[in-house]
Amino acid sequence: MAKIFCIANQKGGVGKTTTTVNLAAGLAKVGQRVLMIDLDPQGNATMGSGIDKRQLETTVYDVLLESASVAEARVRSEACGYDILGANRELAGAEVEMVALDRREKRLRTALAAVGAEYDYILIDCPPSLSLLTLNGLCAAHGVIVPMQCEYFALEGLTDLVNTIKQVHANLNKNLQIIGLLRVMFDPRITLQQQVSEQLKAHFGDKVFDTVIPRNVRLAEAPSYGLPGVVFDPPAKGSLAFVAFAQELVDKMPPASALVPESASPPVPAPMDAPPVAVQLPDSL
Ligand code: ATP
Ligand code: MG
Repeated sequence: MAKIFCIANQKGGVGKTTTTVNLAAGLAKVGQRVLMIDLDPQGNATMGSGIDKRQLETTVYDVLLESASVAEARVRSEACGYDILGANRELAGAEVEMVALDRREKRLRTALAAVGAEYDYILIDCPPSLSLLTLNGLCAAHGVIVPMQCEYFALEGLTDLVNTIKQVHANLNKNLQIIGLLRVMFDPRITLQQQVSEQLKAHFGDKVFDTVIPRNVRLAEAPSYGLPGVVFDPPAKGSLAFVAFAQELVDKMPPASALVPESASPPVPAPMDAPPVAVQLPDSL
């Protein structure tokens, strides 16, 4: 049974898509069967996996509106080593079209049930909003991976995201938990980034992944070649970090069946230290 993770953060441009495609490629590299779902009408994860979004006949839009199954709509990228359920601008319409439909938050979850046995990991790239599309991702998932930059405003946004995840957990998906925070675009020369990074670790403990993704231009260049950095330039620092992250995830993850918590409350967080940066952090994840 696949472990299903959303890569989510309502802030734009924080590295969600870069994380999704590189983690997918990294997991494939360490021998995992992966389906990558693009839940963003921008279609960046689709293009970044070498699939031309304009040429796609069936996408996640058709899956959400139940005019195609996942098996019918997915495509394979041999170069990347994973399957892709792509998206394009059409998906923006799904938001409006789904409002009037029943089970509107649970359509992706229902659709994924049919393919769960074929994969070890299903990764969902969410748009930069807490929309009905993101809600479909959160309802379908066992957990959320939150990429974040070690910056002041990133910390502020975390509270909103955690509150949303707690609401979804309470009302729509009892299985949902925060798998962890991933520090991305990290530049160790910047003192504030180091401080924020340490603060995150002190505050959230092992909910912060050990692997840190550095700022690396090869990761930014790779999408224009239609490849994740991990495939485009395997020895680049950023690529090596994503493969290490994939391995960390595999090593840390219990089987999908064990991801379903018995109690209805979210996992208890690490004890809190006084934050050096004056910002209101959520008490728990
Ligand atoms: P959106 O909210 O628009 O969906 P996003 O959160 O998915 O954005 P990305 O598209 O992954 O963010 O990244 C934003 C920009 O930062 C892109 O140009 C990407 O190439 C670049 N980028 C992401 N991670 C890194 C990194 N580690 N090093 C250098 N550049 C990076
Ligand atoms: Mg994106």
